[in-house]
Amino acid sequence: MAKKSDHCSFCGKQRKDTVLLISGMEAHICDQCVEQAKLILAEESTHHKTDKNLPDFKLLKPVQIKEFLDQYVIGQDDAKRVLAVAVYNHYKRINQRDGKDDVEIEKSNMVLVGETGTGKTLLARTIARMLHVPFAIADATVLTEAGYVGEDVESILSRLLQAADFDVKAAERGIVFIDEIDKIARKSDNPSITRDVSGEGVQQALLKLLEGTYVNVPPQGGRKHPEQKMIQVDTKNILFIAGGAFDGIERIIATRTRTNVIGYGTDKEMVADKSNLLQYVSPADLKKFGLIPEIVGRLPILTYLNPLTPEILKRILTDPKNALIKQFVKLFEMDGIKLVIEDEVLDFVVEKTVDFKLGARGLRSILEAILTDDMFELPSKKSVKSLVVSLSYAQNKFDKAGLSKLKVA
Ligand code: ADP
Repeated sequence: MAKKSDHCSFCGKQRKDTVLLISGMEAHICDQCVEQAKLILAEESTHHKTDKNLPDFKLLKPVQIKEFLDQYVIGQDDAKRVLAVAVYNHYKRINQRDGKDDVEIEKSNMVLVGETGTGKTLLARTIARMLHVPFAIADATVLTEAGYVGEDVESILSRLLQAADFDVKAAERGIVFIDEIDKIARKSDNPSITRDVSGEGVQQALLKLLEGTYVNVPPQGGRKHPEQKMIQVDTKNILFIAGGAFDGIERIIATRTRTNVIGYGTDKEMVADKSNLLQYVSPADLKKFGLIPEIVGRLPILTYLNPLTPEILKRILTDPKNALIKQFVKLFEMDGIKLVIEDEVLDFVVEKTVDFKLGARGLRSILEAILTDDMFELPSKKSVKSLVVSLSYAQNKFDKAGLSKLKVA
């Protein structure tokens, strides 16, 4: 029997012909075979993923998806239910094995209509967190048609690729939130009257992404550049969620529903709640607002977010998993200080937020105004072990901070 350390058991190469021969109990492997095995492993694991089309994420049932969202987003039950079903169906669609039958499930891209700061981005972000899929936010207002100053629509996918650490397969199952979709509406829904090509051109460009197509994406974003190596991304399975405030859409809804009331008596019930017309928003209203019919068609799922009431704002302060109050308590705790914020203070913060029309983003600015002095001074005062914020204390600090210091994050 030849001496066992003489050669590689895989390729038979003699020890003298290798850089390194690794010895096992019975066999040996040379450096080149290790390299080869590494390549095979890498290749196999990619095939494994694509062949089976198995998700890397946890797919919960719609009820569980809503329960997950409830931990982070307060209220907005209608939007959560619609979103939960859309996401569930979207990922069922991705997992559908190709060629098994003729029923092809269509994509569930969606639009969230609601005032700014009501939780549209938060909903989309929370869904991505739940699914462990890459998530990118794009601002529709900076997008322009190719050839104009601004960002090409492909830049949206550059962001998604970056969020996915350039794992193309992961990016192709990611979620993109397109904010301020209402800002690229054309100004009139009659194209022959106003040819507002800028908005319409961007909508046309977006359409291709929403439909599902192969896009050459500049990895670092920015303009396409002849020397830059492009990465091809298939948008077929990317979930697009568009959001917008659609200022003034209530008037369109009111007109439509009024007409219906006259036309068909049975629709009277539909406008029962005049204080919140957004709940009746329909694709026809989006078209009237200035989205082109093709875009509306490619965003088939439509839902709305409610304006935030003082009760909801108060719950936003304390209830979510990473609620603001919990965050401040933690920040003080890191300096060994127990922070107690009395309940009346929460009402005061909500009242100021509503007064200044700051939306949920304002809650933080008001709390910062109240607590900045203490966050500055207390870490250096070793003797202080607790801080109780009462209403009068909060009012005092708030007045001292002055309005000028208020800024919306
Ligand atoms: P939008 O996209 O509708 O303009 P965001 O989702 O960005 O608003 O909300 C801004 C911030 O306000 C969020 O980061 C979150 O802290 C808070 N917020 C808004 N709505 C809610 C909500 N319903 N529940 C919990 N937090 C909320």
